[in-house]
Amino acid sequence: MARINQNYIKLQGRYLFSDIGKRTREFIAANPDAPIIKLGIGDTTQPLPPAIIAALKEAVDEMADPSSYKGYGPEQGYDFLREAIATSDFQARGADIQPDEILVSDGSKCDTGNILDIFAQGANKIAISDPSYPVYVDTNVMAGNTGPVMENGQYEGLVYLPCNPDNEWTPAIPDEHVDLIYLVSPNNPTGTTINRARLQEWVAYALENHAIIFFDAAYERYITDPDLPHSIYEIDGAKECAIEFRSFSKTAGFTGVRCAFTVVPKTLMGTDEDDNSVSINDLWTRRMTTKFNGVSYPVQKAAAAVYTPEGAAQVDEVIQYYLANAKTIRKGFQEAGLTCYGGMNSPYIWVKTPGSMTSWDFFDLMLNQLNIVGTPGSGFGPSGEGYFRFTAFNTQEKTEEAIARITSFDWASM
Ligand code: PLP
Repeated sequence: MARINQNYIKLQGRYLFSDIGKRTREFIAANPDAPIIKLGIGDTTQPLPPAIIAALKEAVDEMADPSSYKGYGPEQGYDFLREAIATSDFQARGADIQPDEILVSDGSKCDTGNILDIFAQGANKIAISDPSYPVYVDTNVMAGNTGPVMENGQYEGLVYLPCNPDNEWTPAIPDEHVDLIYLVSPNNPTGTTINRARLQEWVAYALENHAIIFFDAAYERYITDPDLPHSIYEIDGAKECAIEFRSFSKTAGFTGVRCAFTVVPKTLMGTDEDDNSVSINDLWTRRMTTKFNGVSYPVQKAAAAVYTPEGAAQVDEVIQYYLANAKTIRKGFQEAGLTCYGGMNSPYIWVKTPGSMTSWDFFDLMLNQLNIVGTPGSGFGPSGEGYFRFTAFNTQEKTEEAIARITSFDWASM
């Protein structure tokens, strides 16, 4: 019999979204006329902007012509895209990132999971913000970096960095040594951001501890506050201690198109078991060129269109649309007297459930009484209990209708 990877047995069932779907379907079956509004999805809904569609079509036409047809491209991505990224996303912000430090991929979900391939199994102390995007914990379980799940819902061996109102949803520097650290800004699910001073502290900690920060900036384009860093490389010293993940999914509507990239500075080093210094960029390039055959040419052309003046303006318009929805949701909950976070530099709004209500009880209340579907915070880690995530990815009309229901509900009786 073929033996399986035993680590997969340790994974907890992915009950969150299937449970949400099941409860919603059951409710609709019992109440077929209920005007359900979904504010739970973490997926974009607005169509791709015209400049991106034009670039996609043009590239498809090139594929139809023998003189411009393209087969395999470079595994790390075409130069035209890597150069546009380096110039617009980094150098324009004073971060000295070069095209050969950028590796284009088909998604940050894959990148944040696959990055563990190049780090020693079970030999690193790994710290993860809690709550966070569930992929970080699950991929560490798959990679054999954890023990079994414990009674408190945490996996043995991982260092959970609790985020809460007391630390303004930014994880505190641990008082123990860790080797790999996951930071996200703007955060999914809390919608909060890490300010420059806190990011500087993290970079200083990583440099002192020879640790590496995995900085996930998938929602970077939602940042409107001019004082907030968009990239960790805006912080001095980060090129010696950080990998940054970026995605076109939520920033340019590419969730169904698929394009992302990882920034691995040439100055970033790890050590082998004999304590020799090894280039992380070399290892990640080796991994990508061996296990990946590149993102399709039309998709990379479409991604490059995001950096043209026209494309950038159109993409920003869509972001503004989602941000306006986020503002509506945030304002609505505040008017209703509930505490909420995020929603200003992010498409996510993180609401404190009233009193001591659990995330799932709040889910049932929202569904049964207001016919609104959101996401229970406990699904993002133990520190998410007692919170609830709403997203700005529905239409303006539906978002406003949902908020009218929320503000007219009698929250005082809760
Ligand atoms: N990182 C974070 C924090 C996310 O929330 C998501 C998607 O929801 C991703 C990465 C994945 O992005 P992609 O669509 O590029 O795989």
